[in-house]
Amino acid sequence: MTVDPVVRRETPLALSLKARIRRDGPITVRDYMDCCLNDPEHGYYRGQTAIGAAGDFITAPEISQVFGELLGLLVASAWQGLSEPASLHLIEIGPGRGTLMADVLRVAQRLPRFYAALSVTLAEQNTVLEAEQKARLAGAAARIRWCGGLHEIAADGSPVIVLANEFLDTLPVRQVAGGAECLVGLDQAGQLAFIGTRDAIFETQDFGFLDQLAALSEAAPLAALFIDYGHMTGAPGDTLQAVRGHVSEHPLTSPGEADLTVHVDFEAFAAAARARGFEIDGPIAQADLLGRLGIMERASRLMAANPAKAGAIEMGVARLMAPQGMGSRFKAIGLRRGAMAPLF
Ligand code: SAH
Repeated sequence: MTVDPVVRRETPLALSLKARIRRDGPITVRDYMDCCLNDPEHGYYRGQTAIGAAGDFITAPEISQVFGELLGLLVASAWQGLSEPASLHLIEIGPGRGTLMADVLRVAQRLPRFYAALSVTLAEQNTVLEAEQKARLAGAAARIRWCGGLHEIAADGSPVIVLANEFLDTLPVRQVAGGAECLVGLDQAGQLAFIGTRDAIFETQDFGFLDQLAALSEAAPLAALFIDYGHMTGAPGDTLQAVRGHVSEHPLTSPGEADLTVHVDFEAFAAAARARGFEIDGPIAQADLLGRLGIMERASRLMAANPAKAGAIEMGVARLMAPQGMGSRFKAIGLRRGAMAPLF
């Protein structure tokens, strides 16, 4: 896909960032990404509902219901591994349109004692998406709480399972090149521009939210599964990318109106989690995770039960598993602390 590096759109956030830079000087790439995603007024994750076929990008749970169903079974077997406690706290970070949790809960309903034990918290900072989640999950409302972030969740003593798909790639990245932090300033025409060399960039994401997971794990055993686009081991390089309407664009083109992400460095993430006392499982490729969870058997059964949808089910599963696509580019990593067996 071609990306025009010159185009700049005058989004409301572009105007306010340019005014800020004229007044105070260049900002770091980290601040730029943080503003683009999280600015209270204009941030992409504050107002937009950009996920899905009609939006900016599509995610695994939106591609196939099998994805969420398999994670539901994974949570159920973790509950069994804990000797079926009367209460299990299931947290999802960044639940998007609520599709993953709807698929998890549909599977859970077939296991009445497991379903009765579940209390669910959805950590979501986007009020538009929260409304969509509430509509989609209305049938299970009694079991679900919403909050704006992990910092609002209090431990209740029951074991905790955390799920997060495509959350880590939204955490702002620090970029360093030639020993200096990379900046966004203005070019001679007054447009947003990267300042300095863009060669041999080294990226580090801020995984500080792990402190909140560590705090929750002080009170009860905790296991978390993160699935995201990224690499197994660290490699220097610029991975900041923007997508709008399923098309790549330059990261400075549409501040606040495009999804900005980076590739997660799973080695760095694992190190940050280990430093906070977690044991690590993986990372493994998404295709390996779904294969271990029995995706082929589940898809066959679903296709046999819904012959009219068999083609669509097969296509969705093929996309999740694609060796040159999502199956290998996405990775799964498990974190656990306390008396918890590996999730996979
Ligand atoms: N998991 C969903 C959505 C992925 S998009 C899916 O797979 O379809 C990223 C999600 O994380 C969005 O719901 C976004 O609003 C949410 N998000 C981003 N930053 C967040 C934060 N700091 N706290 C809570 N949710 C956040």
